[in-house]
Amino acid sequence: MAADPLTLRGWDQDHVWHPFTPMLSYRMEDSPIIESAEGFHLIDVQGRRWLDGISSLWCNVHGHRVPEIDAAIRDQLDRVAHTTLLGLSSRPSIELARKLASLAPPGLTKVFYSDSGATAVEAALKIAWQYHRQKPLGPQSRTRFATLGNAYHGDTIGAVSLGHVPVFHEVYGPLLFSSIELPTPAGLRSPPGFYSRAAWLKHCFDEAERIIREQHTELAAVVVEPLVQGAAGILVHPRGYLRHLRRLTRQYDVPLIADEVAVGFGRTGTMFACEQEAVSPDILCLAKGLTGGYLPLAATLTTEPIYEAFLGEPHLGRTFFHGHTYTGNPLGCAAALASLERFQTANVLGNVRALSARLGERLSVLEGHPHVGEVRRAGIMAGIELVQDRETLAAFPTERRTGHLATLAARRRGVIVRPLGDVVVLMPAPAMPVELLDQLCDAVLESIDEATGSQ
Ligand SMILES: *Cc1c(COP(=O)(O)O)cnc(C)c1O
Repeated sequence: MAADPLTLRGWDQDHVWHPFTPMLSYRMEDSPIIESAEGFHLIDVQGRRWLDGISSLWCNVHGHRVPEIDAAIRDQLDRVAHTTLLGLSSRPSIELARKLASLAPPGLTKVFYSDSGATAVEAALKIAWQYHRQKPLGPQSRTRFATLGNAYHGDTIGAVSLGHVPVFHEVYGPLLFSSIELPTPAGLRSPPGFYSRAAWLKHCFDEAERIIREQHTELAAVVVEPLVQGAAGILVHPRGYLRHLRRLTRQYDVPLIADEVAVGFGRTGTMFACEQEAVSPDILCLAKGLTGGYLPLAATLTTEPIYEAFLGEPHLGRTFFHGHTYTGNPLGCAAALASLERFQTANVLGNVRALSARLGERLSVLEGHPHVGEVRRAGIMAGIELVQDRETLAAFPTERRTGHLATLAARRRGVIVRPLGDVVVLMPAPAMPVELLDQLCDAVLESIDEATGSQ
């Protein structure tokens, strides 16, 4: 017989260590234990229904239990669940690679699979590193990576080395390789010392140019989250910054790695964020939404010139000696193919445009809210920064956990959200109906008032 909810709660506390979760306070919170789902709702073991306001951590696209994706996985299960890509191939991995190459920005024709966003980034780093040692114009020892301030690229050690989010990354400092930090032109106000936002942005563009010019002979790659830095707190770049970085990396012959793990698959309004600035990176990292949020699968796409540097007689050792056991898992690839099919049949990008407009309208009421410092949004990714004082932007004391209080208040209203510090994040699934987005906004706006004490 299946364990009852109370027993499960006990076993959860006894045995499960939750990621990014302070476990002492988790134990007090009666967090839902999810048993099933229906569309955009999660259902817990007590039968309570929860609106999934964060796309099950930014990956769900079409809702849960989508008949076409379920059927594609079952159909693949009747053939084979897993077989290796080391020296062999499989039907869904081939079909998906071809599909991704046709959808990705021009020039990205080769697909290297792995299992998560972090592994997609790790593969990208090692590909860029090895490329410089094997490229036809003669080997170069390019040993450094440049990434943006507050960058987040995942939690494995290479990806953490690219990161610049102090609360996540600082403790590992001595374990990491250092990366060069490029400016992050985000924030709607100008920081102290700049007389206008325009002056601040110009400073960022100029600094990026100076750093890449001065360091390019050492740079193995520049790594960016295009348009939006998600885990940094939904930091939205001004128009043209991505394009600027592409122009500079071309001029100085430095590969550009675009990490679209969060922004890919419709979240900013286009299939890939790079499209909005007509940018083709040299390497593209995809994960979260790739399977519609069903299974752990990731892809690192590269151009022909990069791929070709790895060709040669086997004894020359130019091979990319890298891979994971479940690389290119057929169930994951089958789910991804069905998800991409649904983008077309269900006009998901059209829905994103409607959601994006509605989200903008709904969040505009926060302008002038005494405890909202900034509302940052691109497409259907939104971050609401809670502050003690709107004028000075003074933060709430960390120990107050104001963002977390807003999450708990949203739960009392049947909605699942998850903050980044005191930034309340809204990340509806690209296919969510507008009526549900409205429910999500109703609950979150009330929860912000409750958590900040401004009712
Ligand atoms: C989530 C995220 C990652 C890491 O993906 P995982 O699947 O959690 O390893 C990498 N880059 C970005 C931009 C992300 O948002």
